[in-house]
Amino acid sequence: MVKAEHLEFLGELRAYLDALDPDLVAATRAEHIADAMQPRVNGRRFLARLGADGWLGVSWPAEYGGQGRGPVEQWLFAEELCDRRLPNGLLTLNAIGPTLMAVGTDEQKAEFLPRIIAGELEFAIGYSEPDAGSDLAALRTRARPDGDAYVIDGQKIWTTGATVATHLWLAARTGEQADRHRGISMFILPMDAPGIEITPILTQGGEQTNTVFLDNVRVPAGARIGAENEGWRVLTTALNYERMFYHNEPRWELRQLRDWAASAGLLDDPVVAETMGELAVDVEICRLFAQRGAQMLADGQVPYAEASANKVWWSELRQRICDTGLDLIGEAGTVAGPTGPAHGHLEHGLRSSPVWRFGGGTNEIQLDIIAQRGLGMPR
Ligand SMILES: Cc1cc2nc3c(=O)[nH]c(=O)nc-3n(C[C@H](O)[C@H](O)[C@H](O)COP(=O)(O)OP(=O)(O)OC[C@H]3O[C@@H](n4cnc5c(N)ncnc54)[C@H](O)[C@@H]3O)c2cc1C
Repeated sequence: MVKAEHLEFLGELRAYLDALDPDLVAATRAEHIADAMQPRVNGRRFLARLGADGWLGVSWPAEYGGQGRGPVEQWLFAEELCDRRLPNGLLTLNAIGPTLMAVGTDEQKAEFLPRIIAGELEFAIGYSEPDAGSDLAALRTRARPDGDAYVIDGQKIWTTGATVATHLWLAARTGEQADRHRGISMFILPMDAPGIEITPILTQGGEQTNTVFLDNVRVPAGARIGAENEGWRVLTTALNYERMFYHNEPRWELRQLRDWAASAGLLDDPVVAETMGELAVDVEICRLFAQRGAQMLADGQVPYAEASANKVWWSELRQRICDTGLDLIGEAGTVAGPTGPAHGHLEHGLRSSPVWRFGGGTNEIQLDIIAQRGLGMPR
């Protein structure tokens, strides 16, 4: 439940954000609207500003430089930034950081956590491979022990943000292929390590993701996160954090639709009003899913099925709002770019929303998780 102290926090956050350099905010927003999947030049400057002002790591414990608040505040923080179409340090701050706190060595924590919370580091996630997506335990990228180092060879795909990241959070095979998830270890690699080559892939929404080739990449043994061959637990911990705190883009897109209806003089049109009302209810459900997950984390529980439900709901709702919006707008809605209706945001949203039905694990796989972990059904 959102309490008075949470609202007080939100008030402080809003006052802080309102007082930021408007030029930095405008440049970051423009960049983020074009491609929300990776903070680039302005996004990195923006996150560094928040880091320097102590506004990253809202729920990180004080011993790691955080504000020591709870998951509910963390969710409100993510939602507020999403509402303003600004980056919130999503995976690096909310998935990699907490996973390192849970399983990293003292040296790894000292090396990475202060730089993450300062907004200096950006991690790309190297799980998927051409033949290992939903079936991630089939991954083949191999890390061979070699003295006090590992040598890594293989290929990752859909490695979003690899061209702007400072580090790669990599899953590689250290055991036998037949061991599946019992033979995987996690590593952190600097993105500029010799032997890493990146090829961009442009998605239909214009957002960039990448293929990453690893050719004899040498990393010290200390780059391994968690025990050898026990990376699956590390990976699933990070994935679960990732699924919980997704953006609340549907709310922003519904606002674009409302603004378009106002500019078209359609606010009192009964069809528009009923459609908007129905979508507004679904947006509130979206918020309640996220809030429930945050509250579970605050109560020391791990939201498995709940994180999956959250991810399925918001990603499908986003597509539905853009789709419904373009139906209401009619043929003109297909005009792309800022001169189009709703400044092209719904058209762009419709093109880019299918990505989120895949990213973080496809929605079909999430439905399996909900059936198994939420309803106790067999695999
Ligand atoms: C734009 C984009 C960005 C991404 N970013 C990253 C990233 O940064 N890092 C990263 O590691 N990965 C990333 N991914 C990869 C994403 O997690 C995978 O695409 C996803 O896990 C699906 O894997 P796949 O593409 O191999 O499809 P497949 O696993 O081959 O699935 C194909 C279809 O079959 C269905 N399917 C497969 N198995 C089952 C099953 N058991 N039950 C029911 N249905 C099933 C799937 O739902 C899907 O519809 C990204 C993907 C995209 C498209």
